[in-house]
Amino acid sequence: MTDAPASTRWCLSRHGGAVCTRPIGHAGLHNRVGTSLMWSDRTADPAQCPVSGDPASPAPELAGGFPHGRALCPTCLAFVRLTDDGRLWNHDSFRGARTDAEQLERADWFNAHGWAGETLPDR
Ligand SMILES: [Zn+2]
Ligand SMILES: [Zn+2]
Repeated sequence: MTDAPASTRWCLSRHGGAVCTRPIGHAGLHNRVGTSLMWSDRTADPAQCPVSGDPASPAPELAGGFPHGRALCPTCLAFVRLTDDGRLWNHDSFRGARTDAEQLERADWFNAHGWAGETLPDR
C-alpha cells in the first residue's frame, strides 16, 4: 500500500450527483471523466452534502478504531458524525482527507470494506 486513494486527488466539485474527476485545482470546466457532463462553479452543487440529516448507521471499525463511530456518507463518501438520534450531521461534501493520517485510515477502511454507494472509476 503506497498509493494514496485516487479520490483524494480529485477536484470533487459536484453537479447533480456527478463528481468532478479532474485534478484538484484544475482550470476550466468541471468534468466527470468518461462522460460528456461538464459544469462550471456557478452551476455546481452547494458545498453542503445534500443528505445531511438523513438517518445512517456507524460504519464498521478498523482494528485501530477508525472511523470511531462515524458513518460513511453514501453520497459523498465522507465519514460523518452521527447525531444522538442516528442522523448524519450537516457536513460539506467530501473533498479529500484533511490530514495524511486520515487519508491512510480512509485507504485502509476502503481496502477492508470496499466502496459503498458510488463506484469510483479506476485511473
Ligand atoms: Zn472540477
Ligand atoms: Zn455526505
